[in-house]
Amino acid sequence: MLTKNQADIWSDFLAYIEEKCSAAEFQNWIAPIQVAENGADELVLRVPNIFVQEYLLANYKKDLAGFVPVKTNGDLALKFIISEEIKKQPILEEAPPAQDNLKLNPHYTFENFIEGASNQFVKSAALGVASHPGKSYNPLFIHGGVGLGKTHLLHGIGHYVRQHHKKLKIHCITTEGFINDIVDNLKNKSMDRMKRFYRSLDILLVDDIQFLQSRLNFEDEFCNTFESLINQNKQIVITSDKPPSQLKLSERLVARMEWGLVAHVGAPDIETRVAILQHKAELRGIRIPHKVAFFIAEHIFNNVRQLEGAINRLSAFSRHMGKEVTEEVVETTLGELLQHNPQKKVSVDNILHCVGTLFEVRVSDLRGSSRIKTVAFPRQVAMYLAKELMTDSLMKLASAFGGKTHSTLLHAWKKVSQQLQSDETLRKQIEMARRNLEE
Ligand code: ADP
Ligand code: MG
Repeated sequence: MLTKNQADIWSDFLAYIEEKCSAAEFQNWIAPIQVAENGADELVLRVPNIFVQEYLLANYKKDLAGFVPVKTNGDLALKFIISEEIKKQPILEEAPPAQDNLKLNPHYTFENFIEGASNQFVKSAALGVASHPGKSYNPLFIHGGVGLGKTHLLHGIGHYVRQHHKKLKIHCITTEGFINDIVDNLKNKSMDRMKRFYRSLDILLVDDIQFLQSRLNFEDEFCNTFESLINQNKQIVITSDKPPSQLKLSERLVARMEWGLVAHVGAPDIETRVAILQHKAELRGIRIPHKVAFFIAEHIFNNVRQLEGAINRLSAFSRHMGKEVTEEVVETTLGELLQHNPQKKVSVDNILHCVGTLFEVRVSDLRGSSRIKTVAFPRQVAMYLAKELMTDSLMKLASAFGGKTHSTLLHAWKKVSQQLQSDETLRKQIEMARRNLEE
């Protein structure tokens, strides 16, 4: 009955649900669920215990119905298997706290992280830390707005370390999780064990430290753990929605967090957004024409999670309707997700990036002097746009194109203006570029 691979259905659902629930909820309840191998006409999920199954059905049954086919009797084609082995583990004195099993999102690997100008630096810092834990930057502090890939990079470090440094003891936790751990251990009078566990780690990954603000008692415990690890040259990586100096935390902790490298993740530019869209579409097995990806990227610009949300909706749409994804489909299915860009200042750089993306040509080629038509023509379009949209002198513009002369620029402008009168495709492309640059 299932038309799509079970694993694909589940990964589509995961991507969709991740947008809807909090990171902690996702980590605690959703991430532990796995697709079981067998089951031909049903989606079979393996859950660690009955609570996880009940939780999923109680909260997300309706959402599941958008992904899992429905049987003729109206039930979802869905079955659960409860993992037995996890149930009765003896509690050893040395057993680490509940959070020990490294819960990493399987999709958040370095390989799945698309690089662009806004995140290249932080990605290479993350890779540096993962390759040489405790030896490059310590701590590494990653900050940036919502949905820009901080958790992705943090888990990327986790995956990499697991693969390449099998012997190292690593723990990844949300700040909420850390606080819960303390609460539980205080209740169970096992704080010593918890301290011993944290202080024996080689690498500690902490997500969303901003949640430690105004949690005074917990802040002290975190700070002690932090110092103990750093003093032994153990690696710490922290993410946050703000830089350390803007967090309402003690001076002592802020100073500690500034010891190593503070790296910022910015919002991706249009090229990177197109690349992310195409990568995510490929992962979900849907084809999105370049023009459509560009159209979406134009309208969703400050949050990668929303780009993913768009792909999920389109993927659900194309699966149910079996239709090609066109611009019209995008407009009707994405509706309110599409935003309008705030006023931007146009620069030659912006123009080159925009035209490069639109025509699928490298910016360095546009700046160069190749006369191959597939490069030379987009270059002329870029020159046309520069003259149209910018107020600088022709001389100044020409030199910004890598030392061209002003007559080259003028020639390009004339040629494109002329062609525009008869070439409908070109008119649309230029309109798109203008919208992207100006709005
Ligand atoms: P944050 O923690 O900064 O709020 P996340 O790491 O949760 O953001 O990222 C949100 C979503 O966007 C995730 O699904 C992540 O995989 C995706 N994402 C963010 N940046 C990138 C990128 N550069 N390449 C691929 N996917 C990305
Ligand atoms: Mg996050």
